[in-house]
Amino acid sequence: MAANSAVPAATRPPATPETPETHVTLEAFAASAARAAPAVHDPLAAWRVAAEPYYRPVGDEVQRYQVAHARRLPLLLSGPTGCGKTRFVEHMAWRLGVPLITVACNEDMTASDLVGRHLLDADGTVWHDGPLTLAVRHGAICYLDEVVEARQDTTVVIHPLTDGRRLLPLDKKGEQLAAHPDFQLVVSYNPGYQSAAKDLKPSTRQRFAAMAFDYPAPAAEAEVVAHEAGIALARAEQLVAIAGRTRALRGHGLEEGASTRLLIYAGGLMRDGLDPRASCEMTLMGSLTDDPDVLRVLSDCIDATFG
Ligand code: ADP
Repeated sequence: MAANSAVPAATRPPATPETPETHVTLEAFAASAARAAPAVHDPLAAWRVAAEPYYRPVGDEVQRYQVAHARRLPLLLSGPTGCGKTRFVEHMAWRLGVPLITVACNEDMTASDLVGRHLLDADGTVWHDGPLTLAVRHGAICYLDEVVEARQDTTVVIHPLTDGRRLLPLDKKGEQLAAHPDFQLVVSYNPGYQSAAKDLKPSTRQRFAAMAFDYPAPAAEAEVVAHEAGIALARAEQLVAIAGRTRALRGHGLEEGASTRLLIYAGGLMRDGLDPRASCEMTLMGSLTDDPDVLRVLSDCIDATFG
């Protein structure tokens, strides 16, 4: 059946040689539309941030990031674990409409893991872009979380990307890849527990503009915990008060105080029916230390808070 058979004949355009497609079927139209505009393959589709990640600003960090991003400055986010760095980058990627490729760095990670490698498949040896190359080639924010954990050879590929050249050397491919205009490199590191050997070298550090993060101030942190864990603000405030005590023990029995992430865990357990004491034992005690003296201090603090 003709696609436009419901249209009165008088209103149909005449089937002249100039309008040869007038009486095509819907199926034929769909097929030719597909030929004319084949589905564009989006290599970054998986890394587009569709929904707004909740982020509660604690200062002017959103503006700072926006201005730095406009210049595509490489950014170094420093701060303790679980204080909101990753969430902030996710939020900014969404706000700016730029895809985000996050890589959690670890001590086994090499430059090849970031850049890519030749792999053998049915067609022979084929090059596969690593996450950094994907971001450089197609234009995404590449976030290297805990960058100092990665092996030293990764700095060799990062350096030419973080100066005026904006180049990624793909040595194994014999290619110098110029960065896409939308590419931005963001790295994070926790200055707290790096050994001197793993600290960022000045020659690397000075290639980045820096943003220092810390746990939000108590009122803001309670808001975040209440929102993320789905608990009442008053409960969240109690957890934040305990966190304050643990953070005061940093360097006095604890390597790190309780992170915002741990408070959200504690709140989530409470919301799901576990009593406050048990929720805190599993998060604000057991996740922080095995030291019996410190555990006793934390236990007393939890008892005093929840009565
Ligand atoms: P980091 O990357 O610093 O280790 P994350 O970004 O993973 O820490 O933060 C841990 C969790 O804390 C996040 O998943 C988020 O739920 C919460 N969080 C911390 N700070 C904020 C904030 N300012 N706004 C919203 N959520 C936050």
